[in-house]
Amino acid sequence: MKSKGAGNDYLRSVKPMDEILRQDQFSRADLVRLLESAGADRTALFSAAAARKEEVVGKKVYFRGLVEFSNECSKDCLYCGIRHSNSKVVRYEAADKDILAACRFAWDNKFGSVVLQSGELSSSSFINRVDRLVKQIKALSNGELGITLSCGEQTRETYQRWFRSGAHRYLLRIESSNIELYHKIHPNNEHHSFEKRLECLRLLKACGYQLGTGVMIGLPFQTMENLAEDLLFLKRLDVDMVGMGPYIEHEDTPLYEYRTLLKSKKERFDLALRMVAALRLLMPDINIAAATALQAIDPAGREKAVKIGANIIMPNLTPSAFRKDYQLYEDKPCLDEDADQCRNCLEARIELAGSEIGYGEWGDSRHFKNRQEA
Ligand code: SAM
Ligand code: SF4
Repeated sequence: MKSKGAGNDYLRSVKPMDEILRQDQFSRADLVRLLESAGADRTALFSAAAARKEEVVGKKVYFRGLVEFSNECSKDCLYCGIRHSNSKVVRYEAADKDILAACRFAWDNKFGSVVLQSGELSSSSFINRVDRLVKQIKALSNGELGITLSCGEQTRETYQRWFRSGAHRYLLRIESSNIELYHKIHPNNEHHSFEKRLECLRLLKACGYQLGTGVMIGLPFQTMENLAEDLLFLKRLDVDMVGMGPYIEHEDTPLYEYRTLLKSKKERFDLALRMVAALRLLMPDINIAAATALQAIDPAGREKAVKIGANIIMPNLTPSAFRKDYQLYEDKPCLDEDADQCRNCLEARIELAGSEIGYGEWGDSRHFKNRQEA
């Protein structure tokens, strides 16, 4: 039987679920089967992924304090609420002292690491600023806070400079590994090139970063086969960390026009959980983040992801005055919480998921360590 939306060469896997779950290599057909699983098959997938996670990376969940330090962006990704052309967005750049105070909060509360995230700019003032912030965060924490950057596509020199100053992980989602789909969700111009995105991922690895990437799940035009290919792409790229979550529409973006093509939010959420579980089986020793977008659909969304494979949570430490201006999608959670409330609420939730928090630890991915030793 041919699958919907796939090429003519595509055949559905007819293997029984328990046989697939015993494998350590997975074909595209196997992965589609996992992503489409329901009922008892889905329960079996989730149990297998939870067991694999505990066996390989343990029960700990690591915190990365997320600081969305600026929503200025030169790009126009068709899905993103803070895209350059959205004139309704009030643009901000948090002051250095507020960013550093958020990082100090992370350090004081033994979060282990912070993530500095922003729109994508390539001006020298932006590059210098990130560089200065990285050095200052290292200085304020005696070199103890781990630093992840998520500031988009940059040149090799910039990535190298930030790495030398102390950043050691970088998150740059491929968004979709399917070039046609990538072009459908980005403007068709040089500033939004699929090849450049791939090149940046290669550069980041060559510079020595722990490499994180990921995709959006439930995009318009996306098929199950696309998602299975995304998982295989992550494996081929040999990434250390993955952050992937449901696509959520935003009414002031061009992609909103296609909202009638979308699965329901609940279906996107369920599919995102099956993606996390399938990825844990495919790449057992990587770090997998429980995406904030999960929580936008289900208040316990991130805890559900932790139960079935994720091991990283990113509490939002963005100064509360700016949170409403970093609206990537509708219903983004925790807009009116301060950092303390956020931490308390997370602790209770992680406990619910039967995990413990790796306080004061960087929580580097085992995969990265294995890669270093190889
Ligand atoms: N500008 C940097 C970049 O694009 O890599 C970092 C910030 S960007 C806001 C971080 C991520 O937000 C993107 O990689 C994208 O996957 C996600 N995102 C943007 N709009 C989204 C939406 N409508 N639904 C879900 N995720 C979204
Ligand atoms: Fe800018 Fe990143 Fe949003 Fe694209 S996803 S518009 S680069 S902030």
